[in-house]
Amino acid sequence: MNTSYEIAIIGGGVIGSSIAYHLAKQGQKVILLEKGSLAQGASSAAAGMLGAQSEEQESEAFFHLARKSRELFPLLATELKEYSGIDIGLVSKGTLKVALTVEQVKAYQKLISFHLRAGEQADWISENEARTMEPHLSDQILGGVYIEKDGHVQAPKLSLAFAKSAAVLGAVIREFAEVRSVLTQNGSIIGIETNEGRIDCERVVVATGTGRSDLLAQLGLSLPIFPVKGECFSVTTHAPLLQRTVFAEGCYLVPKAGGRLVVGATMVERSFERSVSVAGITSLLMEARRLVPAIANATWESAWAGLRPQTPDGLPYLGEAAGCKGLYVACGHFRNGILLSPITGEVMADLIAGKPPRVPIDAFRLDRTLAAANLQEKAVK
Ligand SMILES: Cc1cc2nc3c(=O)[nH]c(=O)nc-3n(C[C@H](O)[C@H](O)[C@H](O)COP(=O)(O)OP(=O)(O)OC[C@H]3O[C@@H](n4cnc5c(N)ncnc54)[C@H](O)[C@@H]3O)c2cc1C
Repeated sequence: MNTSYEIAIIGGGVIGSSIAYHLAKQGQKVILLEKGSLAQGASSAAAGMLGAQSEEQESEAFFHLARKSRELFPLLATELKEYSGIDIGLVSKGTLKVALTVEQVKAYQKLISFHLRAGEQADWISENEARTMEPHLSDQILGGVYIEKDGHVQAPKLSLAFAKSAAVLGAVIREFAEVRSVLTQNGSIIGIETNEGRIDCERVVVATGTGRSDLLAQLGLSLPIFPVKGECFSVTTHAPLLQRTVFAEGCYLVPKAGGRLVVGATMVERSFERSVSVAGITSLLMEARRLVPAIANATWESAWAGLRPQTPDGLPYLGEAAGCKGLYVACGHFRNGILLSPITGEVMADLIAGKPPRVPIDAFRLDRTLAAANLQEKAVK
C-alpha cells in the first residue's frame, strides 16, 4: 500500500470530492479519505437546488461566487458523465419563488431590482401567470419571481460523480478511513494519522462538513462550524405535479425525474441528531399542501435528515491556514454546498497550485474571524 501522496483530502462529501476531482484533473497525486461511505453526510440529504438567486444572501462576494458556480454546471454535467458514467440529473427549467403575503410581494419586487442591477434575469409574474406556468399552484399565491437560471441536480449523484471521476483521473479514494490527526513539523504539513495508519503528504485539505472540527483545534485553529439539521421528504405521482422548483418562505418543492417530488426543509439549529421528527415532517406537509394542494393525493416515498455546516457569518471558509504551510480548509457551505461545489473545487485547486483563484475569495478567508492562527506543532510519532 502506497502511503505517500502530494495531497490528502479529508471528507468524501460533495466539497471534498469536487476538490479531489479538480486536483486529479491537474495531474496531482491525491488521496481522498472518508470515515464512512462517500456522500454519507449533508451531501446525500440535499434537495440539489442551484439557488444562486432564489436563496437570499447579503454578501456580494457570496452572490458572485454562487453565480459563477451555477454557470459551471452544464459543462460539468457532460464532463462528469464522460469520466464516471453518472448522470447528475441537471434540470434547467428555473425556479418560481412565490409570495403568499403582501410583505413578500414587496420584498421580492426589491429582489428583482437587485438582480437586474447585477445583470441577472428575474421576472415578476402575476398570480395568473404563475398558475399558467404551474397549474397545480394554490390560489393563495399572490405572484412571484421567475428565475430562469436556478435549476437543480441529484445531489448524491453529483457527489459520487465527482469522486468516481477523480478516481478515473488517478485519485485514490478510501472509504471507512477516519483521519484522527494532522501532522506538522516546523510549521508545515508532513502527514495525517488515520485509523489505518500514517500517510505522508505535503498538503492537507479539510472538507469535513460538520464533522471533527477538533482536527483543526488540535492545531490551534479555531474555525467555528455548527450543524443546522434539515429534514426533507419525497412523494411520487403518476404525472408530475410541477415542472419547475417552487420556492417559498419555509418550504420548497423540487420536481425530480420519474414523478418524484422532493419537499424540504426544516431548520433546527445546533442539533447533531439525524433522526426525522413527526413535527418536522408535519410542518413541511402543511406548507407543501398550502402551496400545491394536490400533493395530498401523492404517494408517500421517504423522509430523511441531514446536517448543514453553518458558520457564524453564514459564509464558507475557503483558504490556506496562516501559520501552517500546506493546510487548507473548505468547510461551512451551509445551505449551498451543492451549488458551490464546482467553484469550490476550482478555487481550491488554484490555491493549491499556487495560482491566484479565478474568483475573489477574500471574503471567505479563514482568518476573518481570527486575530491570528496560533498553530501548535503536533508531535510526530
Ligand atoms: C436537508 C438539506 C437540504 C439541502 N439542500 C441543498 C440544496 O438544495 N442545494 C445546495 O446547494 N445545498 C443544499 N444543502 C446543503 C448541502 O447539502 C451542504 O452544504 C453540503 O452537502 C456540504 O458538503 P460537505 O462536503 O462540506 O459536507 P458533507 O456532505 O457532510 O461531507 C463531509 C464528509 O466528511 C466526512 N468526515 C468528517 N470528519 C472526517 C474525518 N475525520 N475523517 C474522514 N472523513 C471525515 C463525513 O463523514 C462526511 O461524509 C442541503 C442540506 C440539507 C441538510
